[in-house]
Amino acid sequence: MFFFIGVTNGTSDLGSRKCGYLPCCGIYGASVEVTCVYSRLILFFIPLFRFGKRYFAACRGCGAVYEISGDDGRRIEHDLGAEIDPAKMARTHMSAHKFCPQCGTEVNPECRYCPNCGARL
Ligand SMILES: [Zn+2]
Ligand SMILES: [Zn+2]
Repeated sequence: MFFFIGVTNGTSDLGSRKCGYLPCCGIYGASVEVTCVYSRLILFFIPLFRFGKRYFAACRGCGAVYEISGDDGRRIEHDLGAEIDPAKMARTHMSAHKFCPQCGTEVNPECRYCPNCGARL
C-alpha cells in the first residue's frame, strides 16, 4: 500500500486588526496587518489539517514585524473585532518594508539593487 503524504506551507491574510500599542512607532490604537503562517499535512492531494500555526503582525508605519502568541493569534483569527494585546507580541528582526542602507529609500523586498542609488541590497 502506497501513501502519498506531504507537507506544504501556506500563509493566510487575516486583514487588519487594532493593536493596543505599537512600541516601534509609539502609536496607541494603531492597526496592524495580521498574517497566519501554517504548515499543512496533505494525503493524496487532500489537505487534511493545518498545524504549526504562527501569527505575525506588521506595523503599517515602519513595517516592523511582531510575532503574536498562539493563543492570542487564535483569538484574533476567530474574532474580527478582537484587539491584539501588545504584551503578547514579540518584536522580530523581520520587516514588511525594506530600506536601502545607502540612501534610505524604501524598496521592494524582492529588489536586489536600490532603484534610487543602485546600491546592492
Ligand atoms: Zn512601526
Ligand atoms: Zn539607495
